[in-house]
Amino acid sequence: MTPEEKNIFPVFHEILSREEKENLLKQRARVIWLTGLSSSGKTTIARHLEEELFSRGFLTQILDGDNVRTGINKNLGFSAEDRFENIRRIAEISKLFLQCGIITINCFISPTEEIREMARHIIGEGDFFEIYINAPLNICEGRDVKGLYCRARRGEIKEFTGVTAPFEVPETCDLEIRTDLMTVKESVQKVLNFMLPLIEVK
Ligand code: ADP
Repeated sequence: MTPEEKNIFPVFHEILSREEKENLLKQRARVIWLTGLSSSGKTTIARHLEEELFSRGFLTQILDGDNVRTGINKNLGFSAEDRFENIRRIAEISKLFLQCGIITINCFISPTEEIREMARHIIGEGDFFEIYINAPLNICEGRDVKGLYCRARRGEIKEFTGVTAPFEVPETCDLEIRTDLMTVKESVQKVLNFMLPLIEVK
């Protein structure tokens, strides 16, 4: 069924454009999509990256797995179907921020190529930048920031990525950060160097 047949009439043309909002903010909106295992460093990098961007006058919004799952996605679990729906909604939210001229920094394990492709498709090529936050499983498990690997190994968490659910290594990521080989500062700097030309107004 088309939107019209469902009595839905989206209005896009009469509202202020993304470009007008980007010009107001003096930035180009983008989605910075951090993918990687739990404890690989997504949240740490996002927090520092946001501070660096803020100090340079950029307006950003971090979208983080746990925050989203306590709010808009609190009815979703971790089955393959729910993980897909989780990312679909996040991609749609990111798109709203894009329309508002705002840069989002997204921290989601987003474990499969299919899920990341869906996000890329919704957000749009050219606005979606996939950054693989990579550290080997044993390093992530050693960090175990939230104690989740420990609980997964004890069988208390089902379908835990890297332990009992797959993580597919990104094949087409825009940038890879090896957090086992670099400091937090170096990692953030590398993301910053990559993103700045894409968000600066020329
Ligand atoms: P995630 O959000 O991917 O689950 P977190 O950011 O919560 O991971 O945890 C990553 C942990 O790894 C933190 O304790 C952080 O201090 C540590 N760490 C070590 N090196 C790095 C690095 N280069 N980049 C990001 N985090 C790092």
